[in-house]
Amino acid sequence: MTGDVEHFARGLVDTVRTRYRTDDFIPLHAPQFAGRDRDYLLEAIDSGFVSSVGRHVDAFETALRAFTGAGFAVATVNGTAALHTALLLAGVGTGDEVVTQSITFVATCNAIRYCSAHPLFVDVDRETLGLSPESLADFLDEHAEIRNDGSCWNRDTGRIIRACVPMHTCGHPARIERIAEVCADWNILLVEDAAESLGSFYRGRHTGLFGKIAALSFNGNKIITTGGGGMILTDDEALARRAKHLTTTAKQPHPYLFIHDEVGFNYRLPALNAALGCAQVEVLPDYLIRKRALAGYYADWFDETDRIFMHEPDEATSNFWLNAFFARDREERDLVLEYTNAHGVMTRPLWNPMHTLAPFRDCPRAELPNSEWVEARLVKLPSSVPPDGVDAISGR
Ligand SMILES: *Cc1c(COP(=O)(O)O)cnc(C)c1O
Repeated sequence: MTGDVEHFARGLVDTVRTRYRTDDFIPLHAPQFAGRDRDYLLEAIDSGFVSSVGRHVDAFETALRAFTGAGFAVATVNGTAALHTALLLAGVGTGDEVVTQSITFVATCNAIRYCSAHPLFVDVDRETLGLSPESLADFLDEHAEIRNDGSCWNRDTGRIIRACVPMHTCGHPARIERIAEVCADWNILLVEDAAESLGSFYRGRHTGLFGKIAALSFNGNKIITTGGGGMILTDDEALARRAKHLTTTAKQPHPYLFIHDEVGFNYRLPALNAALGCAQVEVLPDYLIRKRALAGYYADWFDETDRIFMHEPDEATSNFWLNAFFARDREERDLVLEYTNAHGVMTRPLWNPMHTLAPFRDCPRAELPNSEWVEARLVKLPSSVPPDGVDAISGR
């Protein structure tokens, strides 16, 4: 390792250790259960309703509606199930194309494939890590047309481009209003993958509320967790009803008969997980303050180096789910990953871009220079809510 990079990596390890006040292993994002988690879990167990019914599912949905401002919220067993359902409700079906970004977690593309549809990759912005509205518009101008049926067709593949799924990477909001405008111009339904962006707002509006429907995740590594879990957000009451119906085996309400009026899914969130969610969402406002302070701490340190910290995008309020910085090139990225992980400080690169993975290698795509640029350089940093409260943060 060259001296300069080693000096930088050692400084980074010290900086992380100083903030987390430990010589032990420091994970990327650890869940925390310092609120009423145990109380609500015991309440659910004592009630006997731990599975498909119980007051905690309703309570968790209500809390998420209140926090995000969504008209309706439907809890699901995980974020991937929420995305799958959201895409089905957006009308995505066999042979359709769905525009998304190559820089995302594989769940986004898997959910598209569960609908027997094809991902179509456009580029991301370097400033947001989210889907680039210019890349989207340019691709459509060059390759798409709206035909008499009102649908947007990809002229190259002869398939309908039904929906667009931008993702708010690491919690930083994409330029979602501009994306929504392009989608509206082309009759493409907007479905947001807001799995990483609970608590992130664009121009004061919560991410996930800019399109028809959106998905959240409460996996163990997300900003709050239910162990595993997800949520569908929408302002459309009919869609919300269908979401509930489809995710609960399409069973019609009846005092004792089992009538299922279509092939549904067992995608409901168990009440035990929802109970955990009720406690987690109570501490979310506090987490957001503490994670913003952590981002400020990192930003100050990176100002003293000549590497670029991933700052909050313009007009966005980020949840700073995962802090990150850009190494100078792939070689430096790999050296920093090697050094920090060998020294007990967990760091990670971005995911391998979707267009390079075996299942999605042959999907249509735009030029992806920014996706390749950020993938080669981005390093994700430990971002758990820092220990021991607010005074530890002001001690930076
Ligand atoms: C976490 C995540 C999901 C959903 O993941 P689950 O583990 O199924 O809850 C989907 N998309 C992205 C981008 C994610 O980060």
